[in-house]
Amino acid sequence: MSVLDRFRLDGQTAIVTGGNRGIGRAIAQALAEAGADVAIGNRDAESGRRAAEEIEAATDATVRAYEADVTDEAQVEALVEATVEAFGGVDVLVNNAGITVHAPAEEMTVEQFQRVVDVNLTGTFRCAKHAGRAMLDTADQNDESARGGVGSIVNLSSMSARVANYPQHQVAYNATKGAVDSFTRQLASEWADDGIRVNAVAPGYVRTDPVDEALREDPELEALWKSEMLLDEMARPEDIAPLVVYLASEASWYVTGSSVLIDGGYTVR
Ligand code: NDP
Repeated sequence: MSVLDRFRLDGQTAIVTGGNRGIGRAIAQALAEAGADVAIGNRDAESGRRAAEEIEAATDATVRAYEADVTDEAQVEALVEATVEAFGGVDVLVNNAGITVHAPAEEMTVEQFQRVVDVNLTGTFRCAKHAGRAMLDTADQNDESARGGVGSIVNLSSMSARVANYPQHQVAYNATKGAVDSFTRQLASEWADDGIRVNAVAPGYVRTDPVDEALREDPELEALWKSEMLLDEMARPEDIAPLVVYLASEASWYVTGSSVLIDGGYTVR
């Protein structure tokens, strides 16, 4: 098998939460380009359906979109069940759905804080729990080899798990991303013997709607943030996706429990 073949995902099925836009949209397309069928789960049905259609038109993959709010366990369970029914199983889960709230800690309400936790951390747990069960069920049926594994889970962490962001006020967000890294390590340990690998990717600044909105509000942020980056550029969503394909695929079979930085060198200085 050539090295590029080891990145292929032919015959596999991936769930991508928040695959309708931003980083998740690029990840969904990249997984489809690598050969996986994809189930997108997000709240806004129309943009989910549009993304699925566009990705199907651009690739050979079958792509389905399901309305699923990661803060609702029944909806997460239904997303996994619909995916299993449509494709026969789940091999890859990308926990991409995420939000932030910008407010000084002394003014942030407990409800705002808990909302960020509910999406970014508890949402990641809900999806991992139900997709993990489906992966384990498939493993029982297929008796797959240990090296290929029975599943790969990739969580969207952030460099914010490791550094403070400046000058934004976002304590809830950074706390959840630190927790996602810790969750990733523990789950990787608990499911290692079952053949499920669990990793995280930790991007720096990526040009998606929330970042563009912050820059519209304060254009000076761009120069400030770039001054901290070794590569002097913000990433595009499609710059993050290849790392997720790697972590989803057999090419990374020896990687588990890792949170991989992809930040243009922001955290180096
Ligand atoms: P966007 O705001 O562009 O997209 C967020 C996505 O999450 C949307 O697809 C949205 O879909 C979905 N989503 C939000 N809440 C829920 C929910 N309750 N249930 C299901 N889906 C939900 O964000 P980005 O693309 O920028 O970020 C994606 C991930 O990458 C996040 O986890 C973020 O923390 C992380 N990240 C982003 C960075 C950046 O600079 N952009 C840097 C580091 C990490 P819908 O609203 O339709 O539900």
